[in-house]
Amino acid sequence: MIIMKFGGTSVGSPQRMHSLIGLIDNAEAKIVVLSAMSGTTNSLVEISQALYQKENDKAAILIDLLEKNYSNVIQELYTTESSVSKAKELLSIHFDYVRSFTRDLFTINEERAILAQGELISTALFQYLLEEKKVQSVLLPALNFMRMNENSEPDMGFISENLRLELAKHPSESLFITQGYISRNDFGEIDNLKRGGSDYTATIIGAAIGAEEIQIWTDIDGMHNNDPRFVNKTFPIAKLTFDEAAELAYFGAKILHPTCILPAKSQNIPVRLLNTMQPEALGTLISSENQTEGFRAVAAKDGITTINIKSGRMLLAYGFLRAVFEVFERYKKPIDMIATSEVAVSLTVDNTDDLENILVELNEFGIVNVETNLSIVSIVGLFPAEKPGYAGAIFDALRSIPVRMISYGGSENNISVLVETKIKKDTLLALNKGLFQLD
Ligand code: ADP
Ligand code: ASP
Ligand code: MG
Repeated sequence: MIIMKFGGTSVGSPQRMHSLIGLIDNAEAKIVVLSAMSGTTNSLVEISQALYQKENDKAAILIDLLEKNYSNVIQELYTTESSVSKAKELLSIHFDYVRSFTRDLFTINEERAILAQGELISTALFQYLLEEKKVQSVLLPALNFMRMNENSEPDMGFISENLRLELAKHPSESLFITQGYISRNDFGEIDNLKRGGSDYTATIIGAAIGAEEIQIWTDIDGMHNNDPRFVNKTFPIAKLTFDEAAELAYFGAKILHPTCILPAKSQNIPVRLLNTMQPEALGTLISSENQTEGFRAVAAKDGITTINIKSGRMLLAYGFLRAVFEVFERYKKPIDMIATSEVAVSLTVDNTDDLENILVELNEFGIVNVETNLSIVSIVGLFPAEKPGYAGAIFDALRSIPVRMISYGGSENNISVLVETKIKKDTLLALNKGLFQLD
C-alpha cells in the first residue's frame, strides 16, 4: 500500500482533478489524501474571522461567493447531469451548514467545523468524478479514524486500529480516498492538524498502516535548496535524510507541514515529494539513507519573538535555567533557539498566545525584554562536528547581515541564525550566493 497526498493546487481546478485520475488509476493499492481546493481554507478562515467579529453580513457575502465558485467548478468538472445534480446537493448541504453559523453563537468549535468543510467537499467532489469515470474507489471518512490526543499529537493506536477497520470493510478494493487536515480531538470533536496539515495526515496514515511509501504531490518538483517564494535561483534536492527534512519542515520550508516527517521517520517509511504539474520530474526522496556532508538547503520561519532575561544575580547558577524553562513548560510553549551569557539568557518562541502571563512569571527572575518581528533562518545539511569550515562559510556569506542570535551544535543537521524579518529575504539571498554560488 502507498499513500499519495495531493495538495490544494493539485485539486485546485476541474482540469487538475481530471489529471489526477491519470496518476492514481493503476493497479497499485493506495490511499489518496486530498486537501481542500486551493484558496478554500483561506476563505473559510476569513468567514470565521467575520463571524467572530459579528460581521455576519460580511460572512454571508463571503459564503455566497465561495458557493458560487464551487457551482462553477461542478459545471466544468462533470459531463453527466446526474453527477452535477449530486454535486449540487452536496454543496447545498455543506454551504447551508456554514450559513447556519451566521445565525448562531460562534466559538472555536464552530470555527473548527467550518474549517473542515474544504476537505469534506473536495474529497466528495473527486469521488463523484471517479464514479462518473467508472474508476472503482472508496471514500473513507477521515473523522472515523483520525484522532489527536490531549497533547495534540496523533493517537497512533486509535488511528491504526480504526483505519484498519475501515479498510477491512472493503477487502477487494484498492483505491481509497480520504480527507487531509481534519481529525477529531481528544474529546471526539471535529478539529484539524493546523494549516498545511494534509501532509501530516498522509504521514500519520502511512505510519499507521506501515505503508511502503508516502508521496506528497504538490506544485513544485521537490524540496528546493532555498525558499522559491523569495529567491529566484533555486534547484530541487534529489535526496534528504529524515532529520534534514524534519529540520527544514519545522524551520519554515512550506512544502512540508512542520511536524509531518516524524511519523514517517518513526516507521522508516520513505517520503517522496513530487510535482503534479510535472509528474516525470524526480522530485525529492526523504529516507534514512546516509548523506554526504555539506549544505543541503536554507529555510526561514517568521513570527519569531525573543525574550531576553537579564539577571543581577548569578544568572547561570544551576537551577536558574530550569526555573525559566518550567515557565514555558507550564504554558506548553516550545522554545526554538537559546543563547546564554553570564548575565543574560535569550530565547525564542513562535507562539505568543500566553506571552503576558509568561512575562509576569519571568519578571521574578530579572529584567525582561521582548522583541518581535523576527525570523529564524536555518541552514540545513550534514555538518560533522569535527569538520572545519561550515561555520566559517556561513559567517562569510552573512558578512553584511546583522545577525541577532546564532545556534550551532545542537545537532549536526542545523545551524540557525535569527534576523529581523525585514531582512529575511536579503539573508536568504546572501546564503544562496555564499553557500550555493547562486547569484
Ligand atoms: P500544497 O498546497 O500542495 O500543500 P504548499 O503551498 O503547501 O502546497 O507547498 C508548496 C510550496 O512550498 C511551493 O509552491 C513553494 O512556494 C513553497 N516552498 C517554500 N520553501 C520551499 C522549498 N524549500 N522547496 C520547495 N518549495 C518550497
Ligand atoms: N487545506 C488546509 C490548508 O489550506 C490543509 C492543507 O492544505 O494541507 O491549510
Ligand atoms: Mg501544503
